[in-house]
Amino acid sequence: MDRRYDPRAVEAKWQRRWKERDAYRVADASERPKFYCLDFFPYPSGDGLSVGHCRNYVPTDAVARYKRMRGFNVLHPMGWDAFGLPAENYALKMGVHPRETTVRNIANYHRQMDLIGLSFDWSREITSSEPDYYRWTQWFFLLMHERGLAYRGTGQQWWCPSCKTILANEQVEQGRCWRCGSDVTKKDLEQWYFRITDYAQRLLDDLATIEWPEQIKLMQTNWIGRSDGAEVDFALPGRDEPLTVFTTRPDTLFGATYMVLAPEHPLVDELTAAEHREAVAAYKDQARRQSEIERLSTEKEKTGVFIGAYAVNPVNDAPVPIWISDYVLMGYGTGAIMAVPAHDERDFQFATQFELPIVEVIAPPSGAQGTLSEAYVGDGVMINSGRFDGLPAPGEAFAAVTDWLGERGLARRKVNFKLRDWLISRQRYWGAPIPIVHCDACGPVPVPVDQLPVLLPDLEDFHPTDDGQSPLARNEEFVHAACPRCGGPGRRETDTMDTFVCSSWYHLRYASPHCDEAAFKRDKVDYWLPVDLYVGGSEHAVMHLLYARFFCKVLHDAGHVGFSEPYATLRNQGMILAEDGQKMSKSKGNVVTPDSVVERYGADGLRVYELFIAPFEQSVAWSDRGVQGCLRFLGRFWNLAAEVAEAAGSGVPAGDAEAEKGRALSRSLHKTIRKVTRDMETFRFNTAVSALMELQNEALDVWANARGALSLAEWRGFVLDVTRLLTPMAPHLAEEVWELLGQPGSALDADWPEWDEELAADEVVTVVVQVNGKLRDRLSVPVDAEREAVFTAARAAGNTARFLEGKELVKEVYVPGKLVNFVVR
Ligand SMILES: [Zn+2]
Ligand SMILES: [Zn+2]
Repeated sequence: MDRRYDPRAVEAKWQRRWKERDAYRVADASERPKFYCLDFFPYPSGDGLSVGHCRNYVPTDAVARYKRMRGFNVLHPMGWDAFGLPAENYALKMGVHPRETTVRNIANYHRQMDLIGLSFDWSREITSSEPDYYRWTQWFFLLMHERGLAYRGTGQQWWCPSCKTILANEQVEQGRCWRCGSDVTKKDLEQWYFRITDYAQRLLDDLATIEWPEQIKLMQTNWIGRSDGAEVDFALPGRDEPLTVFTTRPDTLFGATYMVLAPEHPLVDELTAAEHREAVAAYKDQARRQSEIERLSTEKEKTGVFIGAYAVNPVNDAPVPIWISDYVLMGYGTGAIMAVPAHDERDFQFATQFELPIVEVIAPPSGAQGTLSEAYVGDGVMINSGRFDGLPAPGEAFAAVTDWLGERGLARRKVNFKLRDWLISRQRYWGAPIPIVHCDACGPVPVPVDQLPVLLPDLEDFHPTDDGQSPLARNEEFVHAACPRCGGPGRRETDTMDTFVCSSWYHLRYASPHCDEAAFKRDKVDYWLPVDLYVGGSEHAVMHLLYARFFCKVLHDAGHVGFSEPYATLRNQGMILAEDGQKMSKSKGNVVTPDSVVERYGADGLRVYELFIAPFEQSVAWSDRGVQGCLRFLGRFWNLAAEVAEAAGSGVPAGDAEAEKGRALSRSLHKTIRKVTRDMETFRFNTAVSALMELQNEALDVWANARGALSLAEWRGFVLDVTRLLTPMAPHLAEEVWELLGQPGSALDADWPEWDEELAADEVVTVVVQVNGKLRDRLSVPVDAEREAVFTAARAAGNTARFLEGKELVKEVYVPGKLVNFVVR
């Protein structure tokens, strides 16, 4: 028999057989518990998959296969986020219609996914740019509209001059377009919004109910940005309406020595005194040309002008001069602030610059008051605050001042959120048309559900324009439509929807992908959803992952689903860098594709390496030698399996030394089963692979030198158990070995092996514990216990604890399995 493992022949054979028997089709209901394992659905780019993408798909595939072997009914689907800017930009670059490039790119992705043996149920494939999908994306728009959650608004919007479209707040990063990196500008357009701000509090609260990385929860928390404060009215002499500010520190009101309005504040012109008009107008003009990022920079020198007006401080009736400055924005709070330079950093900078008074009203607990060299923002007690002096701030002081003003009708408690409504209109071609007809008589009228989809017309020229008009506006046939309400002449909405609308609900579609009466069948969604495990990159923290949660809550409120969080558990994979540690990119020419790796090392070699390369969340550099090592590991296992399959008779009876090796190998097997099982449950794939490698080294040694230690039946059992453990990682090899050993059925359907608790029990050793070299305790610990665990146990041991008490620990020494020494003084 040729002993060389040939991954290419083996993998092609099993991929063909899996396809023939439709091995990954999953039934909608089963006696078994369900498990929904989902990857972020990809935009099928022209570049195809890199090994970096496989860092996402291989681990989820391993989990899906593992869960299946553990007895779950596993839904593991794949589809395409095919609408949107990248697809359209790519088509423009190639000079081909996006419909064609999308089909081509999808075919390539599908081919690559098959190549690496991913177990997707392709009968559930969905494509967001197909009418049978976007028809329901449009239905979601109507649902939002019906519930008062879709509205039109005007205002200054982010505009990417390169992509020639408006962007949502979440899609502007550091003043740049998230897609193309161009500096964004502002444009005045009437746009469609989804009222996500209605859900701000629930989006915050429900974070506690889901298993997501803390980092992502924190990013969402900060993005939603709840702050608890008060609205306080400052009277304006000679005017009925007060000037209202939002503050989180009403307890510092006695220290408000000036006020600042955003230059765009609607009261500025009315309040400005005649002799200040010219300076104010010039300043407003200057502010208009600055980006929000520039305006909020703490590095930048503060600028501003006095407008010649005063407001009245409601706590002490003191006149407070009013300034305008670009560090105050219209979009947050009321566009006006009370400035307390003693206790706010930016106000302090501004006051220092313009020599405005700085009055301390919170004394630090250490009592050091006097001339401040910087703002004091910590806790303390109120001073220089009349009747409130001595109150602890902010705590009690916040309530006291707010209530006192409240009784006089001058303040009320208020919660503010940083989150803005989601702007969903795009002036681009390749998206789902917004199902609205504008009628002179009726206004914007939703297209009735039974008239969906509003088909995206096949434009030959789909170039975007600079004027803020979608290319669809050039298509007369599309634009002219009868008003669904009065039948009069109407004009179709020509903007398309942000592609993040398509991806906010796709996880529901997989439950009943071909349903043509609704976005999804309720009973299927009740069975499969929510998603049990969701895996993708962390870059979507405040975009897709926030929008999808919002959609789910709206659906829940409308009675369409019974849950309000779409993804129970989320994991973010680490990145794969090029061998030189740089980011992989086409322009650097350092992208490694699965095609080239599979060609040389096989799909299983690639898969095992993707799992072994590093802890799942950690970014790491690719190494060709690493893949070689993984292929070698698989080849050796195949050799062992082949030799075991060929071996005949009962072998030489074992001597005592051999028999002990056999018992040891059997213990190692059960420990490995336990370890791999626990690692698969906790996403520690790298240590699962290394445990299998260690087990194999031991087995190869016994097979070579003490074969008689196990009976042939035991050897077969050993190989089959390892094969089961390897199935999620290296399914092709596993199938081949399964067949080689004459097993019925498929390794994919095999049961996951169980471990014997007694055999897997840790061997225990006695460790002596010393303090400064003197024996104080003896401790029983598992032979392979972690260092830190041994120290913790040793420190807690009765006698040792007494000798450590009150001493300074200088050094801890652990000689594994033998001794702990604490050096103290
Ligand atoms: Zn752009
Ligand atoms: Zn009408």
